[in-house]
Amino acid sequence: MACDICGSLSGAGAKRYSAAQLQAAVNTGYRPSVALEQFQRLAKSFDLSLPDDYWYGEWVAQVRRDKTDWLLCWACRAGIEHHLDEHGAEQGVMPTSGREPIGGWEPASRAGTIALFVIALLAGAVLLYVVIFIVWKNLEGLLSLLSL
Ligand SMILES: [Zn+2]
Repeated sequence: MACDICGSLSGAGAKRYSAAQLQAAVNTGYRPSVALEQFQRLAKSFDLSLPDDYWYGEWVAQVRRDKTDWLLCWACRAGIEHHLDEHGAEQGVMPTSGREPIGGWEPASRAGTIALFVIALLAGAVLLYVVIFIVWKNLEGLLSLLSL
């Protein structure tokens, strides 16, 4: 089995971490340089040269998307344990900055929310028109009844 962070053989001392644990670590700033080496190696083979920040961003996005367990070799385990010790696990369990919703539907629904609002407004206007129309018609009948 290969380590999910550095890609080396996990071997003895490997441990499984949940996606939530990885995300918690990432949310408190866990940025293992070994994770970058994989990207950079791949990038090099395509003659790509991008700053580390870019690859960290890619990696963090990957961690946040991933919903499966992570198998970490002893070296990466030591890294993440050290990070969690320093930043506190309970702090890490807190939700993300809020820019990335867990459900994943929030940004896409913003336009949908506006559309729904407009539809509701139009439906309301039509309903109001119908009500006024009916009242007006009844008023005429009512008036003609009274005039008798
Ligand atoms: Zn590793």
